[in-house]
Parts: sequence; C-alpha cells; structure tokens
Amino acid sequence: MSLMNWTQAELARLRDQNLLRDRREVHPLPAGKCVVSGRTFVNFASNDYLGLAGDPRLADAAVAAMKESGTGARASPLVTGRTSWHVQLEQALAEFKQSESAILFPTGFAANLGTVAALVGPEDVVFCDRLNHASLIDGCRLSRATFRVYPHRDVAALERELRKAGHYRRRLIVTDSLFSMDGDHAPLHELNELASTWDAMLLVDEAHATGVFGTRGTGLLEQQNVHSDRIIPVGTLSKGLGGQGGFVTGPQSLIDWLWNSARTQIFSTALSIPACAAAITAISIVRSEPERRVRLLQISERVRLELSEQGWTIPAESQGPVIPIVIGAAETTMQLAKQLEEQGILAGAIRPPTVPKGTSRLRISLSAAHSDEDVSALITTLNELRRRFPL
Ligand SMILES: *Cc1c(COP(=O)(O)O)cnc(C)c1O
Repeated sequence: MSLMNWTQAELARLRDQNLLRDRREVHPLPAGKCVVSGRTFVNFASNDYLGLAGDPRLADAAVAAMKESGTGARASPLVTGRTSWHVQLEQALAEFKQSESAILFPTGFAANLGTVAALVGPEDVVFCDRLNHASLIDGCRLSRATFRVYPHRDVAALERELRKAGHYRRRLIVTDSLFSMDGDHAPLHELNELASTWDAMLLVDEAHATGVFGTRGTGLLEQQNVHSDRIIPVGTLSKGLGGQGGFVTGPQSLIDWLWNSARTQIFSTALSIPACAAAITAISIVRSEPERRVRLLQISERVRLELSEQGWTIPAESQGPVIPIVIGAAETTMQLAKQLEEQGILAGAIRPPTVPKGTSRLRISLSAAHSDEDVSALITTLNELRRRFPL
C-alpha cells in the first residue's frame, strides 16, 4: 500500500469529523501576547502561568551560560553530558522541593515515561486515573505492568482495585495533580492514605501546579500538605517555570535508582545548557516573587466567577489558572474559538481524542503576565458570544 494513499484517506476522515489538527506559526511577544499571520493576539492558550518564558532575567541567564559553556550538553548525562549547570539545577530543584536529591529529564513527557517504566514491571500493577496525561498513560503501557484505569478521581473505585492487588510484587498509583483538561485537582490526601493502607507507591505529576500552588510555589502536594516517603513527585520546567525539561525529586535511593534505570534519561542527550541556566533563574524568581502566583490565582478566580455568571458550563471542581468551558460538539467549539480569534483572543479548542466525545471545550489558561485590561476583554467578548451563540 502506498504511503500517500492511506495517509490521505486518514486525513480526509479526520477532516470530515472536524478533528483535523493544523498548525500555526506563532511569534511570542511580552505580556502574554503573540503575533499569528500578522495579527496580534492575547494568548490564553499557553502554559506560561507566571509569565517567565519571556522574562529577560531568564534570557540573560541563558545567554551568559551559553557564552561560557556553549549550547548543547554534548552527551547523555551518564557519559559527559551532566555539566556543572546540570548539577546546579539538580541542587536548586532539590532545595526548592525540600528533597534529598533531584534528577533531570529532557522533557516532562520523558520524565513520566521513564519514571513509571523504572518503578514497575511485568510482576507489578499500576493504577492510573482515566484523565491522566498521555505521558503517564504511555509510561504505564511501556512498563508492561498490569494496567488498571480507574474513573476520574474515584478513590472508592481505586480502593476496590487495590484490595484485589495484594499478590503483585509492587503497586503504583499514578495521577496528575492538576488535571489539564478539566482544571480540577487530584484527591491527594485520599490517594496518599490508600497508598499507605495498601502498600503502594504514589506518583504525582505536578506539571501544571509547579510554580503555581502552595505557599512556596512547589505545587499541590505542598498546598494540600501531603507528605510521604511513598510519593514520587514529577515536575516540568516547561510550564510555570517558563523553560524546558522535566524532573523528579525525592530520597537519594529513588533518584539513584532512576539514574540506573530510567531509559528516557540514560539514552537521551542531557538538557541544553541555556535550558539549565534559565531554570535555575526561574526557580529563584518563583521563590522570591510569590506575588506572581498570588495575582495568577486572583485573576483566575475572577474569570471563573464571571464566566459562570454568564451561564457557561465550567466544571465546578476546576480551580486555578486552567479554566475549561465545556461546549459539547467539536464543530461549535471550533466556531467559538474562531469568533474569539476575530476579537484578538487565542483560546485552546480541545476536541476528541484529547477529551471524551461530546465534551469538546474551550480552554482558557491564564498567566500572571496578562494585563487587567486583557482579562476584562476576554470576559466581555465571551459575554457577547454567549448571547449570540445558541448553546
Ligand atoms: C505538559 C505535561 C507534561 C509534559 O511536560 P513537557 O515538559 O511539556 O514534556 C506531563 N504531564 C502533564 C500533566 C502535562 O500537562
């Protein structure tokens, strides 16, 4: 069969179902704005929660490091790729998360994939929230452990599964802390209690929560005051921290084990030097400028409240900077996103297979960099659309 034939047929099928994804070229600007096809937009579809991706202090740190040590790490970390920049970043992360040690990965995706597969294998069982990020799901599959998916945030269903899992060598529960498509939080206390009762490990992916939640800005485990030596926290440098790369923090033995077994780290070139330097600066800003996360959560609550009053369907459990507006049909969702674009607003339009059929949604992601005027424009524009669109 020719490659052209089947790829064209598959793409036509996606187009018919309104599920074809196409790409755009984006030129980032300060203050949460960007230019696409010559037009300026306010970007409510980024994960730059604290506005650090465009912060000149990160860029300066990256440039200075590059001038000193070059761009690439030149090797995988166990060979010669773990430079003094990497070591400094590991130490900054361990201190930030009040952990004994830290290990870096090329991306958050690689951190999840490599860590899950390093913690469990064919003699083990892994329990996965149905709405977990693709990287956790793929990690579960890759591990070849028995794979149990439990309904979203359903601790009773999870416990029923755990009860039946005593004969496995090891048990691992994996969860996002802030779920990126619904904006809601994992029941971390309950999950930790179940892990303790049923002798399981608990991997918590803080990708969207790092820099955003908690008095010190380390995430939802901190905000919900959940601590245990059974917990494996994973994070990314690519969202709130404005850079690139993934990481795991924890006790020395866990980190040493990942250095010896996480294949996405062992067999991949170490993070680039500017990425390390930018992240070191980002962590120090998160620590010294808590006002960024305070503002972010304030504007998030303002938008959530006003949009609910306008009559949009916002999941009641959603909290924080990710605000899903559930529309239903993929086609209507795309039309709404287009209308917003005409008003200079970019919002995420999330369709199957990313979310279940019939729950397509707009996703508003706020940033501390957004101005009050831009937030007001978002609220006003959505109010006008709400009146015009028969939903
Ligand atoms: C974005 C995301 C990741 C992947 O992180 P990257 O650094 O972008 O690869 C992992 N988990 C969750 C929950 C995410 O939202």
